[in-house]
Amino acid sequence: MGNSLMDKHVLLRHRDVENIRDIEVYTANGGYEALKKAVKDMTPDDVMNEVKASGLRGRGGAGFPAGVKWSFIPKNIFPKYIVVNADESEPGTFKDREIMTFNPHQFIEGVILCAYAVGAETAYIYGRGEFKPVFNGPDGLQKAVDEAYAKGFLGKNILGSNFSIDIHLHLGAGAYICGEETALLNSLEGLMGQPRSRPPFPAVEGLYAKPTVINNVETLTNVPPIIANGATWYRQFGTEKSPGTKIFSLSGRVNRPGNYELPLGTPIRYLIEECGGGIIDGKAVKGILPAGASSAIIGPDKIDTTMDYEAMAAAGTMLGSASFIILDETVDAVWAAEKNVKFFKHESCGKCSPCREGTHWLVNVYAKLREGRGTREDIQLLNSIIEQMEGNCFCLLGEFVIPGVRTSMKLFGSEYEALAVNEPGENGQPQKNLVHLYL
Ligand code: SF4
Repeated sequence: MGNSLMDKHVLLRHRDVENIRDIEVYTANGGYEALKKAVKDMTPDDVMNEVKASGLRGRGGAGFPAGVKWSFIPKNIFPKYIVVNADESEPGTFKDREIMTFNPHQFIEGVILCAYAVGAETAYIYGRGEFKPVFNGPDGLQKAVDEAYAKGFLGKNILGSNFSIDIHLHLGAGAYICGEETALLNSLEGLMGQPRSRPPFPAVEGLYAKPTVINNVETLTNVPPIIANGATWYRQFGTEKSPGTKIFSLSGRVNRPGNYELPLGTPIRYLIEECGGGIIDGKAVKGILPAGASSAIIGPDKIDTTMDYEAMAAAGTMLGSASFIILDETVDAVWAAEKNVKFFKHESCGKCSPCREGTHWLVNVYAKLREGRGTREDIQLLNSIIEQMEGNCFCLLGEFVIPGVRTSMKLFGSEYEALAVNEPGENGQPQKNLVHLYL
């Protein structure tokens, strides 16, 4: 396979058109034509149906069909809101930042089209706290929003129609949990960033208890080309069930880490070898985390798995936000797993005890193993902790800790065994109560 898969960009268009973040360059290259087409020639239902027909799936991780999600918004309740999840915080994910920095108008046009389709007049873009330069820098997203207002693509009676839409940018305080959509809504309302019970779902009771569409930055950036070119055009990319292109964030032990836009259904091997230039110093792949810290690790035997939602699930992991972290044979697997659980312990919001306590205990047991104080009982204890967490966490953050620990122990069990060097307890007797070791 040559480089042809990387030649044309649907989302990373700034790589083909210099300075497309400038609204004059964007409009000179077909920008805001999809909005003009929608407002002049299409009803809101037409726009929604085109997105549905395209099969576009949410790019934030869950992969839920975007058009179907929009159709859940009741038509007769006002106001309704668009909330864009720009809280990109998954370790290894850095694609939304690139879109907002270098191709912001395609994203903004997608937000406007979404609002037109569901009848919303207000949109909030919620960014992680660290995105201050992305939002408010000299060439930041706010500047692009201001340009769109000045050209009449935002504000009242857009392009002479009855359709009006305002966009507001909002920065959070920098918490991973605020990528969870109900925690994000709480944070946007000025409450503590902790998840809400569902139901009610945001489509029914979202921001300020009003119907709310929540989509990710990359998802909405797909919408203008879909409306401009049609669902059939979009479906030429990707697979039947996972249509379109996707940005894969590649990091870890590869020669060329970065964002690569490829059709969904491209093999992992292509991403690593053709895009990433292979592994540093020609070493062998040891493990692949396809969805950052949240994913089950897969071994090198799965390197020819195609990168689409179905194939990744069949391989025992998930595509998620497609942040591929590559471990090679030089990486200490227990060290890598410890880094992940430390991340989750730090980011646990503390609302439920399985996650709050579970991540705390995982970190302590990993520290004990890595500091040379480990026993075989500690390996059992790791298993016991994740079993007690599984299915009992209030939100997915806690559940996302489990696959990484479980697959790390399964794939790299000998490395854990090698650290279980001590006797289990005094006089060789198993310890009945390990609590004192970790306090
Ligand atoms: Fe908070 Fe529980 Fe979710 Fe962890 S699983 S982030 S403690 S609500």
